[in-house]
Amino acid sequence: MVKRLIFLTGSKYKVNTDLLQLQNSDGYSVVSMIEISMEEAVQLCREGEKLLPEEKKAIVNERLKMLVSYAKKHSAYFRKLYSDIDENNFSLEDLPPVTKSELMKCYEDWVTDPDITYDGVIEYVNTPIETRSSYLGKYSALMTSGTSGNPMPMVRDSYHNIIHGTLIQTRFLKNVDEHILDPKYNKLATIIFTDPSVSSYSSFLKVKALNPDYSDNMLAISLQEGSESIIKKLNDFQPDLLTAYPSTIGPLISAAEEGRLSIHLKAIGFSAEVLSPETRCRAEAAFNCPVLNNYCSTEGGEAAMACKLGNLHINDDWVIIEPIDKDGNPVKDGEWSEGIYVTDLTNYVQPVIRYYMNDSVKITRTCGCGMNLPIMEINGRVLEEIQVEGKRLSGLVILHSLHEVKDLYTYQVAHVSEGCFELRAEFANGADKEKILNDFSRELNEYLLNNGCREVTVKLSSEPPRHNAKGGKIKEFVKGF
Ligand SMILES: [Zn+2]
Repeated sequence: MVKRLIFLTGSKYKVNTDLLQLQNSDGYSVVSMIEISMEEAVQLCREGEKLLPEEKKAIVNERLKMLVSYAKKHSAYFRKLYSDIDENNFSLEDLPPVTKSELMKCYEDWVTDPDITYDGVIEYVNTPIETRSSYLGKYSALMTSGTSGNPMPMVRDSYHNIIHGTLIQTRFLKNVDEHILDPKYNKLATIIFTDPSVSSYSSFLKVKALNPDYSDNMLAISLQEGSESIIKKLNDFQPDLLTAYPSTIGPLISAAEEGRLSIHLKAIGFSAEVLSPETRCRAEAAFNCPVLNNYCSTEGGEAAMACKLGNLHINDDWVIIEPIDKDGNPVKDGEWSEGIYVTDLTNYVQPVIRYYMNDSVKITRTCGCGMNLPIMEINGRVLEEIQVEGKRLSGLVILHSLHEVKDLYTYQVAHVSEGCFELRAEFANGADKEKILNDFSRELNEYLLNNGCREVTVKLSSEPPRHNAKGGKIKEFVKGF
């Protein structure tokens, strides 16, 4: 019924803007679902890696223009928000940014298909994975993890799913066995919060349900188990691919270095949290395999993926990341941002256009791997301001000195009482914990004194960082009193 929306023809980059309309039974034109074949998606993604800046700019502008005009036509929320926007003559910066809380207030105005309801999506995502097919017969749906307030449902159309799936195949898995995620060919182990409301675990269950004959090739281990039990299970299972949160991998790296964990991985994958360069290098060496790492979100999809050199390249032909300061002004390349606006050029059913997220990132442009995609470093979720002695201080500054410390895998700074902070951390074997603690204490106190606060004591906790019960991510700063 409906043919492809965007494709590249011949050697020149052209965009086909034929937007075909579907009609519902009442004769109104409704969703014009965009279809694209896997072959076309693969071609677009492969070519996208090599586009010259002016070619990419033209294609991205065209994709944005179509998304905006579609959103304006089919989403009551965007129709109102963009009432002053001339669809044929605007730039990205002209579009007002949006926030999760605003969008959640009018969820059903936001989506472009009138059959989608908030309650309907919630009911769908709460149906057991084994028994459900697609939402409304055509969409996938999932919830954001609960780390920043209330979970939000996200509906994705097949266009989003095909493009983002192809990005995984062509860019994320570029340097590994192309079937690495497929339980037909490989044994997959994951250390995860075994709670079906956590999106990565629900994806795991979905793959398992789709491959009933190979379910023995998939093992999920709860990250709340002790590391000895995890090591034993991994030794018994002998996975080809291990996926984990960066914060859970420290004890396993140590065990592999000591020979207590003996597995022969084709790849190790990380997700959800920031992977520090130190953890990446140690994992690569300890398991002697490529490290897969990406930066994605339920809202924006597959925004960036690590190349063979470990740098995160932004898929900026499909997902636009705009680093911004605290007032929403653009931040230059090479400087840390306080947040970002994300635009997913592929989701036509629940459009994500200049959507605010509180991630601190830094964009640079060149990498030795040969891909013409910008590199992004990520410094984690920017924290709310931290209050010490009634003064408002930047959580980012307090944690910054821990970001690239040798032999430090994961950390959490807990403000446990008025004059006392605690460092909860996972260290590498042989780490000089005393030095790491003293360095951190010195920098923290310097910052506090500079801001008119009294000196504080910083202790090393015997506990590792505590996981957030929802979503499984570690909050890097917590207040404990
Ligand atoms: Zn690279």
